[in-house]
Amino acid sequence: MIDTHAHLDACADPPPSLIARAREAGVTRILDVATSARAGRRSLELAEEHDEVFAILGIHPHESAAARAGDVESLRELLGHRRAVALGETGLDFFRDYAPRQRQLELFKRQLDLAAELDLTAVIHTRAADDETLRELERFPGTVVLHCFSSPGLLAAARERDYYVSFAGNVTYPSAEELRSAAAAVPAARILAETDCPYLAPQPRRGRPNEPANVIHTLAALAEARGEDRAVLEARIEANARAAFSLP
Ligand SMILES: [Zn+2]
Repeated sequence: MIDTHAHLDACADPPPSLIARAREAGVTRILDVATSARAGRRSLELAEEHDEVFAILGIHPHESAAARAGDVESLRELLGHRRAVALGETGLDFFRDYAPRQRQLELFKRQLDLAAELDLTAVIHTRAADDETLRELERFPGTVVLHCFSSPGLLAAARERDYYVSFAGNVTYPSAEELRSAAAAVPAARILAETDCPYLAPQPRRGRPNEPANVIHTLAALAEARGEDRAVLEARIEANARAAFSLP
């Protein structure tokens, strides 16, 4: 199994323990997501140190106010690393509004341009900004992953545009009926699973910090929602992740 979205540097436990526990749970690959240019270097180090880890590098919308001139250029250099598999997460968050919207938009556009130029998949964070996100993505020619999918309203556009749709621990919550219906309607070739750890621990682990091993609970919820065999869906998600991120 693969966890397609983890923030190892934000977890309290050190990466070697997290990776070992993931392995015990059958999770043999982890895509580590850096949220700033500076964090990107650390993520690449982790990917160099651990065969299980690959890096996704970008400037998170929450970090866009703190981003400095030159950070997108740093990303260009870091993304040339052989263990960097996608640009992200980038996008818009008009719910938290941790950064001015204009600034978020500017960095979103520049990162999409960079991903297009480098022919990299873009991993998208979007919250309370469906229309604006879709508008920007319309011009992006590459592969798109909607990470931590939480907006059922985006499903129609995702299907129409052939985006990958990645579900996190919140799809396991008792109140998430609508999200599970969305998960059932994602084409088999486009579904992914992730933890987004340390956030959003799945129901069986709720209240505790999340970690990559827990992606198996998201897998179980997705299999049930889709009426599919767990092992079949697991193999399907592995294949999808290999395609979406050009993994070896
Ligand atoms: Zn994330």
